[in-house]
Formats: sequence, C-alpha cells, structure tokens
Amino acid sequence: MDEIIRAISSDGFVSISVITSRDLTERARKIHGASPVVTAALGRTLAAASLIGGALKKEGASLTVRINGGGPAGSIIAVSDHEGFVRGYVGNPLADLPLSPKGKLDVGGVVGKNGMLSVVKDFGETEPYSGAVELVSGEIAEDFAAYFAESEQIPAVCALGVLVDRDRSLLEAGGYIVQLLPGAPDGVAGLVEQNVAATGAVTNVLSGGGAEALLESVMGGFSPRVLERCRVEYKCACSRERFLAAVTSLDKGELDDMRAKGEPVEAVCQFCNTAYTFDIEEL
Ligand code: ZN
Repeated sequence: MDEIIRAISSDGFVSISVITSRDLTERARKIHGASPVVTAALGRTLAAASLIGGALKKEGASLTVRINGGGPAGSIIAVSDHEGFVRGYVGNPLADLPLSPKGKLDVGGVVGKNGMLSVVKDFGETEPYSGAVELVSGEIAEDFAAYFAESEQIPAVCALGVLVDRDRSLLEAGGYIVQLLPGAPDGVAGLVEQNVAATGAVTNVLSGGGAEALLESVMGGFSPRVLERCRVEYKCACSRERFLAAVTSLDKGELDDMRAKGEPVEAVCQFCNTAYTFDIEEL
C-alpha cells in the first residue's frame, strides 16, 4: 500500500513530505508496458506529482506535470488530484538505454535535458497557476528542486527513487520533498543538507525501514511531528461520459466523417488503456 506522510520540525522551519509509491508505479508500468528506465522516469514523476498535488487540498483541484527533455522517452505527463491520487503516461514507453557506467538506470539520458518541466495547478474556479523551469539534468528530482527554487521561491530538496527488479517488477519506489519555511535560521539549511547526504539513496532506506525510516533520517535533529498520513494510489478519472463529451466536441468535419463511415467509434484512455466504444447513433 502506498502512502504519503507529512511532518514538520518542532521549530516549525522545516517541512517534509515522504511518499512510498511502489504499488502505483507497478500499476503504471503494467498499463504502459514500460521499459525499466522509462518506468523509473515515469515513477519518479508520478511520485513528485502525488506529493505536490496531494498538498493542494482543495476539493476538485488538480496538478499536471509535463516534462519534455527531448530524450528517447518523449514527453512525460503526470496528473494528480487534490488527494495525491495520480495517473500518467509517456510518449514512448518502450524507449530503452544501456545502464550508466555506475550500473544505474539512465533516467537523465532517456528523459533528456533539453527542455522544460512545467507544473499547472488548477483550483477550479480561478485561473490555473502555472510555472515552468528549464530541465537541469532530466533526472527528475533535481529538476523539481529547481522548479521550487525558481518558480515558487521555496528552498527545497527533492529526492526520488525507483528500483526495478531483474524481471522488471518494482522492488521499491518513493521519495521526499523537504522545504525550508520563511524565517528559517541560517544553520537549518546546512543541517538539512547534511541529513540528505547521510540518508543516501531513497530506495535503500525504503527497503530497510519504509517511509518512517526515510522521514526520521532526513529530519534527524529536528524532532519532526507527523501532521498527516494518507493512502495514495494510481487512479484514472476517465469515464464513458467524459469520452463521449470529448468525441462530440471534435470539429464538425471529423464528426461527419465518422457518421459517413457508419462504424462504431473507439476511444482509448491514454492514462489507463480503457477503451470506450460509441455507436454512431450516440454521437
Ligand atoms: Zn482512464
């Protein structure tokens, strides 16, 4: 079961959100038939989208992340609802690259770094908030840290990890975002950096002690107080009604072509592969 834990330091200057996301990443891998390196790229993006989206809180709000680095994976899209339930897809899920010289999945290589990471927060009634930054490395976590620094002016550290087994199934996935809140004294950032360095790879800590171990390690010395824990999962928001509305909003020429053919129209959801079929009379 995947979950998000949010906590704050006893002095109120450091907040952290931790996610375990193995099950939702496995679901994404199976839906898209993704290669291990693309699973890692998509899994990291889904984890970050869930962490940020789940903090929106407002009923009906949603968050959309787009990463387009020009690499062989193509664009990565992840959408989260206000509770951190996520869905996503990748332009080319089968893209593959050899392991890096250190034996790691080459996420930066498959994503590319010649492009942007954009985030759109849609709260419903008001204009959506949107921000975008140039990709730093295409490794995703660093790119989100740059997004927080440049677009939201919040000093943040982000770490994300996805560990894929030899049979391509998911061993571990998850990560965290730590943010310094306004007024944090000088020494605080240094202590967070030390903790982050000492914590090391997210997936190692998760396999040893789960989300709690990750939280305790990154927040060492800060006496964190847990504010909330909530379950998250891969969840698509599509429905027959939504697709019917989308098909009928196509331009008149396309609709006339469909009617002229007289065959049922099939639409497939990019996020979950559900196929919806509509009779011509329905259109
Ligand atoms: Zn769907």
